[in-house]
Amino acid sequence: MAKLLEVKDLKKYFPVRSAPLGFGRKWVKAVDRVSFTIAPGETLGLVGESGCGKTTVGRSILRLIEPTGGKVFFKGTDITSLAGKKVRLFRPKMQIVFQDPYSSLNPRMVVLDLVGEGLHGVSLQKKKDLVVGVLERVGLSPEILYHYPHEFSGGQRQRIAIARAILLQPELLICDEAVSALDVSIQAQIINLLIKLRQEMKMAYLFISHDLAVVKHISHRVAVMYLGQIMEVAPTKRLFANPLHPYTKFLLAAVPVPDPECKRERLVLSGEAQMGADFARTRVDEGCCFAPRCPYAEDRCRREEPPLVTAGKGHQVKCFLVKSK
Ligand code: SF4
Repeated sequence: MAKLLEVKDLKKYFPVRSAPLGFGRKWVKAVDRVSFTIAPGETLGLVGESGCGKTTVGRSILRLIEPTGGKVFFKGTDITSLAGKKVRLFRPKMQIVFQDPYSSLNPRMVVLDLVGEGLHGVSLQKKKDLVVGVLERVGLSPEILYHYPHEFSGGQRQRIAIARAILLQPELLICDEAVSALDVSIQAQIINLLIKLRQEMKMAYLFISHDLAVVKHISHRVAVMYLGQIMEVAPTKRLFANPLHPYTKFLLAAVPVPDPECKRERLVLSGEAQMGADFARTRVDEGCCFAPRCPYAEDRCRREEPPLVTAGKGHQVKCFLVKSK
C-alpha cells in the first residue's frame, strides 16, 4: 500500500514536576511510541477517551507542537527533521480543522481574509475568485465574503474553517474532533461534506474523534488509543464486527445499537483513565498500561508490556490474550 503519511514511534512527553538537577522529574507520556500509516485518499479514524493523546498526535504530526521523539514521513520526506522555511513548504499539503468553530476563526477578519489568508502574491481579484470557488465547494454563498464569523451559526463557521483548510488543496486533512461541538443534525451534514470533498479532491484524512458512531461512518480504518498508546488498529468493518482488545470492546459496548435484539459483550472497567499529574504519579512504566482497568489482567500483564501483534489482515492488537497469526 502506498504511504502518504508514515508516523514512526512518535512520542510527546510533558514534564510535570521539576526537581533539583532534574533528578526525580516526572513526565506525562501524552503520546508514547505511536506508529501508523495513511494511504493517499484513505481515512484513518483515531479514537479513544478524552485525554488519551489523540489531539497531541495530530498536532505533533503538523509540528504545531514539537514531538519529543519519533519520525513523521510525508510522501517519504522526514518532516520532523526539517527546519524553518522547509517546514512551511509542507504546510499547505497538510491542514487541520479544529473542534471549536467559535474560537478557531479570528473574529476581526471577514470571510475573504479568513479563508484566503494562505494566499500570497496574488491579486485581490484572483483571491476573491479562489475564495468564492472554495466557498461554493463547501456549500456557502459568495455573498458572505465581507461578513464576520459572529454572523454565522456553528455549522456555517465549520464550513468556513473547512474552506480555509482546503483552499490550497492539501493532500492530508487532520480533522480534530471537527464535528464534536455541533448539533447532531449539523454533524451529519458536515460529515457528508467531508466525504464529498474526499471523493472530489482525493484527500486523505486523519479523523480524530471520541465518537465511534461518527468514526465508523467516515473511516476506512480505525486506530484505538489509550493513555498515549495504540491498542488496536483494523479496517473499520472488521474492528466493529470483531473487536479483540478489551478496551475496544469496552468502547464499542458504550455505542448505542439501533437493533434491540443485537447482543454485545458488556465489559465493566474499574477506575478511570488518568492523564496529567495524577497519571504521572500512578502510571508504572512496566506492563500493559490498561492493566489497572482491565477485567482480564493477570500478573504477567503488570510485569511485561504486550507487543502489537498481527491478528489478521490489517488487524493489529496490543494484548497478551490475542495470538499472532
Ligand atoms: Fe488486559 Fe493483559 Fe490484555 Fe493488557 S495485556 S489488555 S491487561 S489482558
